[in-house]
Amino acid sequence: MIKIENLTKDYGNIKALLGVSLDIEKAETFAIVGPNGAGKTTLLNTIVGLVHPSGGKITVDNIEVSKNPKEIKKRIGYLPQRISFHENLSVLEIIEFYASLRGINNNNLENVLSAVGILEQRNKKVGALSGGMLQRLALAQAIISDPPILILDEPTISLDPEGRIAFKKLIREEKSKGKTILLSSHILSYIEELADRIAILVRGKVVALDTLGGLRTRLKMGSILEVVIENLSSQALSLVEDLGAKNATINGNRLRFFISPEDKSKVIKTLVENGFNVMDLWTEDSSLEEIFIKYTEGDSNSSNQ
Ligand code: ADP
Repeated sequence: MIKIENLTKDYGNIKALLGVSLDIEKAETFAIVGPNGAGKTTLLNTIVGLVHPSGGKITVDNIEVSKNPKEIKKRIGYLPQRISFHENLSVLEIIEFYASLRGINNNNLENVLSAVGILEQRNKKVGALSGGMLQRLALAQAIISDPPILILDEPTISLDPEGRIAFKKLIREEKSKGKTILLSSHILSYIEELADRIAILVRGKVVALDTLGGLRTRLKMGSILEVVIENLSSQALSLVEDLGAKNATINGNRLRFFISPEDKSKVIKTLVENGFNVMDLWTEDSSLEEIFIKYTEGDSNSSNQ
């Protein structure tokens, strides 16, 4: 449905996208997750034709975005990260405006407002809405024309827990109608229940792409093991790394690393056999959120230069 081939985008010296290739299938809910500055908004904006890529190709429904942007726009409902509405208009007036802009009759407008949970506020002026309510209104304008594709940039960012529950329900309903949904988030947990597949974007590159289950297996760095060793030295660190430990660090007399659960006992045995006096140990399984942070840590403030 959406095919992205070797997409690049430079803003002067800043390389926002460095050769992104993705194939998003029809009726799939696909999430792009990454820290701030990873290139998520740039990627979504290139798909809807708001940003011109420096290189690569995007086709939506077999139509090339650069060649026929108008056709693409008809197929996509877009929730941008920032949207502003005229403050003196009411919720209903805003949504009527978007409906007329897209040539839609007004019969269904209250249903749309109800679906995003803002029907009760329909006569309220936009200037009096909370951030969460504004986001619901923005979502309403994205779904109003019942497009086959929804592209939602950080859709949960201003929502309170109640708003997030309503959002998840809405996405499930849209999904059950066979819609292709592409959404972005910098927080994995908000979208992990919704997405069929997740791409992790870091510094303009896709570093992982899989189903949630696949990511859990593939990205699983194993358990965290912390071993307190009386006569700890860097040789112990080399020994555990030789046995497959990842991210090993030494802090005082504590050696800490990630290791697959089945290798835990072998590591301890090897340390003891090599004369290390193991005094204590502590272990914990890593969660998906931790693994995501591991992948992306240190990148949120990167300059991408
Ligand atoms: P994300 O949505 O993941 O936070 P963005 O796509 O907004 O990432 O930004 C990716 C990189 O491109 C960042 O380094 C950002 O500062 C830069 N960038 C985004 N838009 C522009 C722009 N219009 N001009 C210059 N740099 C930009």
